[in-house]
Amino acid sequence: MTDGGSWEYNDRIEALRDYEFPMLKDNVYLDHAGTTLYAKSLMDKFATDMTTNLFGNPHSASASSQASMSRIEDIRVRVLQFFNADPSEFDLVFVANATAGIKLVADAFRGSPGGFDFLYHQACHTSLVGVRQEAENSLCLDDDAVRNCLESGGKNPLQDLERRAKSTLFAYPAQSNMNGQRFPLSWSERMRKCGAASGDRFFTLLDAAAFAATSPLDLGNSENAPDFTVLSFYKLFGFPDLGGLIVRRQAAPVFQHRRYFGGGTVDMVACVKEHWHATKTQSLHESLEDGTLPIHNIIALDSALDVHQKLYGSMKDVSSHTAFLSRRLYDGFVALQHGNGEAVCAMYSTFSEQTDDDIGNGPVLAFNLRSHLGAWVSLAEFEKLAVLKQFHIRTGGLCNPGGIASALGLEPWEIRRNFSAGFRCGNDNDVMSGKPTGVIRVSMGAMSTASDVDKFIDFIYEFYCTRITESEPSLWGELLVQQDPSDLYVETIMVYPIKSCGGYRIPIGSPWEVRPEGLTWDREWCLVHRGTGRALSQKQYPRMALIRPVIDFSTGHLRISYRGPPLRDTPGQVLVPLSANPDLFRPSTSGHGMTSRVCGEEISAQVYRSDEVSNFFSRILGVPCALARFPPGGLGKGMRHAKAHLQNHQKVSSSGRNTTRCHLPSAATPPDSDSESEQRRILLSNESPILAINLSSLEALNRKIAQRGGKAVSAEVFRANIVIRSSTPKGDSFAYSEDHWSRLRIGKQSFKMLGACRRCHMVCIDQETANKSEEPFITLTKTRRFDGKVLFGTHMCHVPVPGVETKEAQFPTIAVGDEVVVDPV
Ligand SMILES: *Cc1c(COP(=O)(O)O)cnc(C)c1O
Repeated sequence: MTDGGSWEYNDRIEALRDYEFPMLKDNVYLDHAGTTLYAKSLMDKFATDMTTNLFGNPHSASASSQASMSRIEDIRVRVLQFFNADPSEFDLVFVANATAGIKLVADAFRGSPGGFDFLYHQACHTSLVGVRQEAENSLCLDDDAVRNCLESGGKNPLQDLERRAKSTLFAYPAQSNMNGQRFPLSWSERMRKCGAASGDRFFTLLDAAAFAATSPLDLGNSENAPDFTVLSFYKLFGFPDLGGLIVRRQAAPVFQHRRYFGGGTVDMVACVKEHWHATKTQSLHESLEDGTLPIHNIIALDSALDVHQKLYGSMKDVSSHTAFLSRRLYDGFVALQHGNGEAVCAMYSTFSEQTDDDIGNGPVLAFNLRSHLGAWVSLAEFEKLAVLKQFHIRTGGLCNPGGIASALGLEPWEIRRNFSAGFRCGNDNDVMSGKPTGVIRVSMGAMSTASDVDKFIDFIYEFYCTRITESEPSLWGELLVQQDPSDLYVETIMVYPIKSCGGYRIPIGSPWEVRPEGLTWDREWCLVHRGTGRALSQKQYPRMALIRPVIDFSTGHLRISYRGPPLRDTPGQVLVPLSANPDLFRPSTSGHGMTSRVCGEEISAQVYRSDEVSNFFSRILGVPCALARFPPGGLGKGMRHAKAHLQNHQKVSSSGRNTTRCHLPSAATPPDSDSESEQRRILLSNESPILAINLSSLEALNRKIAQRGGKAVSAEVFRANIVIRSSTPKGDSFAYSEDHWSRLRIGKQSFKMLGACRRCHMVCIDQETANKSEEPFITLTKTRRFDGKVLFGTHMCHVPVPGVETKEAQFPTIAVGDEVVVDPV
């Protein structure tokens, strides 16, 4: 599961040529090499099938067509048998995914005379919850409500309603996709019996998409089986992308009420003068599979079933393997404690000691992390680190609204408040009013190993456990040594004309204009995805670092070259005029066209029409994109505002400065600058007009990285506009003093600090090579994390001097070598 290139993949396959596959019994685990082998074996087998047989479009008499049809019918039976479902009792309908299976059932019920009522369990996936839109009445049931209706002598909870539909559908998951909680298969029969006892036409829909991935689903007894069972084969086998709907034949008549019919499902249709059609009657699946079947996907199931069985054994083997792993992870998590005895993980999955009638929990763990003082760890911050450490986990709401709300204790009003408060990148505050808004979910499958589990526990221990002896990074001690004000100067000034692309170093001796939005020509352009309109970022496209714009005032161009290996059919550079001649841009799309997005914020940028320019960037990055411009002075969506603000660790009264750390919660009064920052305009930078870093801090960071055995990083990774150096070496004493600056003078100009800069793993991209590594983010996480945020560098803005008619006030500039003076607070 590494993101290694193809050479690595081929090497592995070479090494695996004689690999004897260990069986899953007796705690012998598959490793990642095994996963690769699985994928390779499956693809090879499928490729052989495809290249030795000719499969035609079904429904014709040709040999190739007949071959497809008979293979598909064989596979249908084989899949039913995989779930121990007798083909005379059940039929399998192939659908695109589990959701399509659910919609097919919902369609039939909507069409039934008098409509239907819908009961669904709280743990349902969003795709099941959506069925309520089609129902006359619907009700969300928790465990107790289901038990009540099972035990109250067969009462449909909707029974007392005035207007009742003629049929009721009850839906629940076999396993929650949120936390792995399992629900008894026997509910299907018992609920149906309850319904029948009260004279209802009562049906059950089981969502087995999550459950079937790691457990045997046994439909051996058709009497207690669900009427409808939906599945996703890609969750089971990884490939093909296909879903299934298994229908208990006794419930098949429901589908007579489906109104829509698609090609392939009817025997005869009359159109012009009369509207009449005859649905196919030979088999249920024929009447429900609209249009051409996904022939090759279905045929691939044959290979998937073979290879999965051969490499991973039976589903029972997979189930005991994954149960062992999840138990191990759970025990590891529960054992994790901070030095002060507080738990590190708040668990939303439960693994009780297994009893005989216990169906256990699926190999899925949902949890949140807490600091030793009880604060929730931000999911966005956690994800940054997990990505860097190459864990493939998921965070957030997980398409399980009821499960999340009950796990996190979120009331409907809170969910709506959080929704309207929105989440934007940059200020991704996913802990709202002291409650997390989502969870972290770890899922294990047949290919997971004990070593994966141990690595993950170690990871949580290393980064989220506060040991008792470890104090938080001390800021105030360092401040006791005051700097000599005259010994700071500007070492480098950089602008990044195209957002996320390489920087342009301001030559020595060139005064550079500072504007309210930032340094002139900084982040005025961006690359936008042709399909989504989103501004591209180095996070997804590290090679953007190798795209180097030069501002050439002599010819009036932005000259853009590419530093990577030369590409065929792509010029070495393109020129874009600095002047914004309207002819260069595509006509404005005035509302009904595509808008661009930067950090989730909708903006209106001017997109260049030149194919040469878009091709240049598209070829380099391998993504369809175009260059766009966002000039200063725009209105409406043509302008943006700064989001930077002082971080909590920076807010401290001056009397407390050098003594104690301030542990006030974030609810403390917002800094005065917040209201101002609403009004502070920026171009396409993420958060603020100007970003500065202090080289003493970088040196301190590099010493820490070296202690951990890592390689020092260069200042460029932080993509600052202004790099400040001290002319006399000071060791660590001056490091991070910028946290407490409030105003700076650079040359003749004044600047106001707007707060520390929140970092993500983009700082791990080497700006010379576009290669990614773990540093400096890992060490920053260890040494510069405050309230869960990883901070480095400082946001700031220019403070113009009003009413002063000097040259410097009219045209403010700074230059490399300018003296930097920290104003006393
Ligand atoms: C994944 C999943 C779904 C949705 O499956 P699709 O194949 O994406 O339609 C529904 N329910 C559960 C429990 C799932 O895990």
